[in-house]
Amino acid sequence: MSSARALIDLHTHSTVSDGTETPEELVTTAAAAGLGVLALTDHDTTGGWERAAAVLPSGMRLVRGAEFSCVSPTGRPATPGDRATVAVHLLGYLFDPAHPAIVAEQTRLVAERVERLRKMARNVAVDYPRLDAERVFDLVPEGTTPGRPHLGRALVAAGVVGSVNEAFVDILRTGSKYYEPKRDTPVEDAVEMIVEAGGVPVFAHPLARSRGRVIEPSVLADLAAIGLAGVEVDHPDHAPEDRELLRGLAAEIGLVPTGSSDFHGDNKTTAIGAETTAPEAFEALVAKASGVPVLEGA
Ligand code: AMP
Ligand code: ZN
Ligand code: FE
Ligand code: FE
Repeated sequence: MSSARALIDLHTHSTVSDGTETPEELVTTAAAAGLGVLALTDHDTTGGWERAAAVLPSGMRLVRGAEFSCVSPTGRPATPGDRATVAVHLLGYLFDPAHPAIVAEQTRLVAERVERLRKMARNVAVDYPRLDAERVFDLVPEGTTPGRPHLGRALVAAGVVGSVNEAFVDILRTGSKYYEPKRDTPVEDAVEMIVEAGGVPVFAHPLARSRGRVIEPSVLADLAAIGLAGVEVDHPDHAPEDRELLRGLAAEIGLVPTGSSDFHGDNKTTAIGAETTAPEAFEALVAKASGVPVLEGA
């Protein structure tokens, strides 16, 4: 593969969380799409790392990572219509996967996700009895981080909706009548935990407004002061004007700007490599890491 043209995609999901391609298939898809650097960032787990590493082809580099489920201050005072916190996602790259705080928090979060999805499935089944709430976990094999897209697939299989995307519009979206919250990690704690484990924290899709409420950009400066290294600027859920705002802010406060597809296989319509990170930004992130190395295909 020509490294000069090789693309860098730093945010993808496999069947170890809510993607539809196995870690092995994801590596093959990445190579076919011309990626030279692939980051595997399943939700709240490092369970796919070894599987992806085992099939890494020559000419491709693997960044081992995860996407942490967090709760952040919004940066706005609480008002009757707007609580002062919001669920956010934090990407962590190249951290030591055996760091005790990370292991403990990932274990807690996966258990939290199981309970939360069970509750949501039961809520949905009240109005959509074609869904068998007790069978939803048939789609979540042992060792998988469960997420709303799994319930989305169950709704597609039951004939309630035509696609996972459609399931999110009325049924699964944050704040719907079926929605159940989970107890996520305070984002400040997650930043500190990842840094302590030798990793590099990057704030994922901070202005993905279509998903619901988002943070004020000022929160990024507060997190930069405690070790946040980068921010996802180019993301499929970011509007053009928000990308420009984030690019300017990143330069101002010293955050590395990244771009990534957030590929989920067939659970979303975005192709792998649809958004990419500049080589110098990637190198700047790698230079901050001391947990595990970037792997090179042999
Ligand atoms: P959860 O992690 O269980 O809260 O589910 C959130 C996940 O659902 C996100 O990480 C996205 O990957 C996915 N998601 C959010 N909105 C959509 C959508 N409209 N269509 C498909 N997947 C979505
Ligand atoms: Zn996801
Ligand atoms: Fe995310
Ligand atoms: Fe993601």
